[in-house]
Amino acid sequence: MPVVHGLPKAFDVADYDALVVGAGYAGSVVARELAERAGKKVCVLERRPHIAGNAYDCLDEAGVLIHLYGPHIYHTYDERVHEYLSRFTDFTNYQHRVLANIHGTLMPVPFNHTSLKMAFGPERGEALFAKLVEKFGLDRKVPILELRAQDDPELEEVADYVFENVFLHYTMKQWGQTPDQVDPSVTGRVPVLVGDDDRYFQSPHQGMPAKGYTDLFDHMLDHANIDVFLDVDARDIVRVEDGKIMAGDLAYEGQVVYTGPLDELFGLDLGALPYRTLDLDFETLPVDEFQPVCTVNYTTSEDFTRITEFKHMTGQVVPGKTTILREYSKAYEPGSGQTPYYAILEPQNKALYASYLERVAGVANFHAVGRLAEYRYYDMDAVVASALALADKLVAEA
Ligand code: FAD
Ligand code: UDP
Repeated sequence: MPVVHGLPKAFDVADYDALVVGAGYAGSVVARELAERAGKKVCVLERRPHIAGNAYDCLDEAGVLIHLYGPHIYHTYDERVHEYLSRFTDFTNYQHRVLANIHGTLMPVPFNHTSLKMAFGPERGEALFAKLVEKFGLDRKVPILELRAQDDPELEEVADYVFENVFLHYTMKQWGQTPDQVDPSVTGRVPVLVGDDDRYFQSPHQGMPAKGYTDLFDHMLDHANIDVFLDVDARDIVRVEDGKIMAGDLAYEGQVVYTGPLDELFGLDLGALPYRTLDLDFETLPVDEFQPVCTVNYTTSEDFTRITEFKHMTGQVVPGKTTILREYSKAYEPGSGQTPYYAILEPQNKALYASYLERVAGVANFHAVGRLAEYRYYDMDAVVASALALADKLVAEA
């Protein structure tokens, strides 16, 4: 059945073997697996008016393919994930490159050999590079917090420069906290690279779905056993009560795969899980090209974190027009209609999440999976891996 908006009059969740909440990666992968490998009849409920979750892309008024919820670049080391997604799309060979605008000079990020020479001049840059190679080895990736911990005046000089000019202000804008205050895994995503590779990711598989992300999801959800209903909030259909999933007055016995925020299921009654959200400011300009690469990070100036120019990553040719996106990060206010984009990985937040998870631990047919439902800073490939692991378990038990 095609994807439809709203629920038909005759809708009864009991007609389905499984209910999937959310049509992003987590929900769509599990739906496909249950439908295909276990022959289950699956209902997918999505409260947005479209599939693909935060990876959704569409043409804007100028005809430029944009990512409505922020720039998404696919990259993975995971062979299974790559093979799996490749069933539903071809990938282009796009290699993502990012430049940091440091006081008006554009330098590669991750900070690398080239950046070092630009920042310190060719001669001194080479000497410092030799020192980094001697200490860490060629092509090593060194998290900024590890570099800062070195007890060597020259390495300290590099660390101080990178900390101040790449991480400090950007992290303050993105998280409202300094790099020392955020979980080390966050800044560890963008380590200093002791080498010449100027790509943002070194993963063997990276690129863009040839016809876009929404097209990938169209194919993934296109299965005779899957029905997708958009503009439907699943909380109007099912709720968790006394260790059971209830649909109206009856217990729902099928599997429920939930990919939304866990606190919302319980009316935030233990407190709201903290997130960062984004104001996304799209602008179409009457030029072929605005900036030399897809993404420029503003690491020493401006209120926004980065500008993305979509045509670089999609490879789309639109003469005389280009669309750019400025991202402004701020605290998420629950119940405000904002999107919870980034979980804030602090111990007390993880503890609050664990308390919510405990509430559903005894509900054998309830499964929380995905970036929101697991309260994790997951990239797309990690969500697909997590969803496949859950699907393996459910298919084995079916
Ligand atoms: P989502 O995509 O959020 O899907 C969950 C879906 O559930 C949503 O559509 C939501 O509407 C729906 N839902 C929630 N509650 C309900 C309910 N009660 N009823 C019905 N539906 C409900 N990853 C990368 O690999 N590369 C990148 O470059 C990258 N860039 C990113 C940039 C930004 C700004 C952000 C925020 C994320 C980025 N990511 C990137 C991460 C990527 O977006 C996620 O890993 C992935 O989309 C998560 O998929 P998901 O299914 O877990 O969640
Ligand atoms: N970061 C930074 N400066 C940069 C790039 C990244 O300070 O130029 C830090 C910042 O804290 C950011 C984190 O590293 O939130 C992870 O960056 P990434 O590009 O992976 O963020 P995402 O694309 O997920 O928003």
